[in-house]
Amino acid sequence: MTSIADLPAVERLPYDIARIRRDFPILKREVASGAHLVYLDNAATSQRPVQVLAEITRFYRDHNANIHRAVHTLSVEATELYEQARSKVARFIGAADPREIIFTRNTTESINLVAHAWARKFLKPGDEVVVSEIEHHSNIVPWQMLRDERGITLKYIPMLPDGTLDLDAAQSIITERTRLVSITAMSNALGTIVPLDVITARAKAVGALVLVDGAQSVPHMPVDVQALGVDFLAFSGHKMLAPFGIGVLWGRLPLLDSMDPFMGGGDMISTVSMERSTWADVPAKFEAGTPNVGDAVALGAAVDYLTALGMDEVRRHEREITDYALRRLADVPGVTIFGVPDADRRGGVISFELEGVHPHDIGQVLDTRGVAIRTGHHCAQPVMLALNVPATARASFYIYNTTAEVDALASGLEEVARFFGVK
Ligand code: PLP
Repeated sequence: MTSIADLPAVERLPYDIARIRRDFPILKREVASGAHLVYLDNAATSQRPVQVLAEITRFYRDHNANIHRAVHTLSVEATELYEQARSKVARFIGAADPREIIFTRNTTESINLVAHAWARKFLKPGDEVVVSEIEHHSNIVPWQMLRDERGITLKYIPMLPDGTLDLDAAQSIITERTRLVSITAMSNALGTIVPLDVITARAKAVGALVLVDGAQSVPHMPVDVQALGVDFLAFSGHKMLAPFGIGVLWGRLPLLDSMDPFMGGGDMISTVSMERSTWADVPAKFEAGTPNVGDAVALGAAVDYLTALGMDEVRRHEREITDYALRRLADVPGVTIFGVPDADRRGGVISFELEGVHPHDIGQVLDTRGVAIRTGHHCAQPVMLALNVPATARASFYIYNTTAEVDALASGLEEVARFFGVK
């Protein structure tokens, strides 16, 4: 395994939006209507830069082989690249050791891994798992399944009307019986940034573990697992410039060591006889079967790309765009923006409604102008229930978005408002 100290340093580049945009050829394309693409659906998935696309091609063209099991040159190279990617990810989130990085398919699989391999082993009826009302379904459903199967209690930290969490309520909801607090760092539906320090302090005071759903934080802001003082972190490559089908679970080494495997099969064993098997050490214990080698390597390239920009600069850029968008959209007749009104407490996600117009109609009219947003419940139905709306329209930003694109969104919305006679 490549040690973090052996990785080459990544050269820091100035934040040059024109240069960044040149790295994303898709941003130059036209959509069906002939309009120029304005991609504002980054909370669903990001676009991929040429550097990541090139890494995928390079891997399959020059190094493709199955890993860990052969002594031939290609297999050794592929193994080295795969383990290097693990170390890059470890360094990116401040992990103490590359063995703490488990490659999964996505955030959903990472959370399910903890629900199976940790919670099913260690939790008993009456133990409590605490989540919040603003979670993505992938941080609700696995715990409901566990509750129904094992008789644990599932509790929710409620959302306040402004889309933030009720932190006073959290103090009494997290109790001596709480074994795990599984919480998003940032809501994909509203953009709310959760004060993880407050939640973690309370969880630690009662001896509970903390799992952070970092699907919307790791791609968008500096994340350091040591500084956070949490126990697990789950995130997806496809939201941070990497391909689909590669995700990460980070966990503290002693915790991972104490857990049983998630799935059984090749690569995750130490010995197999006809009677029984013994397990490989982490991370192999949790990576049964042939992993997604090429996409893990490409995730390493995505991490290099983001590191070169600097995650503090990524956050600064998104904060600026979000601040501009909050002000610009507030001027469009009939628009109501959900969530906290200031860009310091939210990420680059803006959910809104246009009075009397169904979000799907907004999305469709905007698409004719090339503007890609998402409409629906955003896999956060409890948030929609709390807002008392069936769906919202959502614009979400990333490293390559510009204020001119926010203007395109705003003028598109003005047209929708005119078309539907909104005053
Ligand atoms: N958690 C949050 C906050 C998300 O935004 C998402 C995806 O939108 C997920 C979890 C699930 O991610 P994936 O579908 O990549 O597993």
